[in-house]
Amino acid sequence: VKHTKEDVLNLAKKWDVRFIRLQFTDILGIIKNVDIPVAQLEKALDGELMFDGSSIEGFVRIEESDMLLKPDPSTFTLFPWAGSDKYTTARLICDVYTTEGNPFIGCPRSVLKKVIKEAEELGYTFHVGPEPEFFLFSTDDKGRATTQTHDNAGYFDLSPVDKGEEARKEIVLTLQDMGFEIEASHHEVAPGQHEIDFKYADGISTADNIATFRFVVRTIAQKHGLHASFMPKPIFGINGSGMHLHQSLFKDGKNAFYDPNKSHQLSDDALHFIGGLIENARSFTAITNPTINSYKRLVPGYEAPVYIAWSEKNRSPLLRVPARRGIGTRVELRSPDPSCNPYLALAVSLKAGLDGIKNKTKPPKPVDQNIYEMSQGERIEQGIHSLPSSLEEALFELESSVLMEEALGQHVYHNFIAAKRIEWGLYSRQISKWEIEQYLTTF
Ligand code: GLU
Ligand code: MG
Ligand code: MG
Repeated sequence: VKHTKEDVLNLAKKWDVRFIRLQFTDILGIIKNVDIPVAQLEKALDGELMFDGSSIEGFVRIEESDMLLKPDPSTFTLFPWAGSDKYTTARLICDVYTTEGNPFIGCPRSVLKKVIKEAEELGYTFHVGPEPEFFLFSTDDKGRATTQTHDNAGYFDLSPVDKGEEARKEIVLTLQDMGFEIEASHHEVAPGQHEIDFKYADGISTADNIATFRFVVRTIAQKHGLHASFMPKPIFGINGSGMHLHQSLFKDGKNAFYDPNKSHQLSDDALHFIGGLIENARSFTAITNPTINSYKRLVPGYEAPVYIAWSEKNRSPLLRVPARRGIGTRVELRSPDPSCNPYLALAVSLKAGLDGIKNKTKPPKPVDQNIYEMSQGERIEQGIHSLPSSLEEALFELESSVLMEEALGQHVYHNFIAAKRIEWGLYSRQISKWEIEQYLTTF
């Protein structure tokens, strides 16, 4: 449903809404909220609500701090858990505007819109279906998060042995109440790990959904006395959490990746899109995998990708083309993790794919062997490179990419790199428990 301004005002009355939460994200993907009483709703919908942008990480300097929030009426939805009483709360997702009335270049949602527009100018609609994974951890007697999981269930396990399962079901029901189309939800490989897949939608809706999803999951988990974490690799030695992105382009209402007459039944567009993703994978990784911890997931042995290659058969490479053809033809990008800013992650991967289409980038041959079992010599022979192995390396690659600078725009590009360099600097000077155990008594 795409609500208009009038719909929103009517629905707010009908639902007896008392508060509106205006939602947007900062450059690092953290959800920001401004709560307003319903009396301010009309003014908000007219894009007249001001806030202080200098309080938001990486937004602006103090001197130019006034910003406007421009709500997207189609995102109006009730928070089902807020109850039907005097606190009934609904939310609107907003774009950030300058006081001159222009989209603010530092707003991640506007960054994604710009790349989507570029796709549209070439005749394409961008569709994405995400598969976010997360852990549900117990909390201690003070309500603080632990890394203790609750259950002993494994992948697709049916037995209702855990509290986590109950929480996941309520999460799914809540999301459905909010208009999400959930395709599947299941227990993942690791204890305490879950995955909820939602149906593909256009790029903006999907990025909005991912941002909302993380917040809903955390809220409902908390009601069950659990802590939901989207940290990519919370526990050493078991699977981490990814957020695979299934991507496709549509043209004239048809899936542009499907061509029944070509080998693999993949169109030239599909192959070039894959070519673009492969060519730019090292440059966009800092955006799709933006934390120090992200790189502890991208290691061999835990179903997360390490090598830049594509395949139709196995899940070890960066890109997989699932067997579905026809309208469901798509490319699964397996590197992103749920700590990323979804708007920026979608923007950079679309930009990379479009770059492949524009330059008719030929992808390498698909790799159907298990890449982890190949020797380094074999990998070099086949031209298979690795993803960056640390945030530092990924930042270096991002900083050398003109395409990524263009995708993100100067403001986001430079502020993102600056913030992440600080993060890397702080981390790299820490003395870890591992180092103490390894060296304290040896030397
Ligand atoms: N948890 C794995 C990852 O880190 C993915 C498992 C799967 O294929 O769903 O990407
Ligand atoms: Mg999974
Ligand atoms: Mg997957």
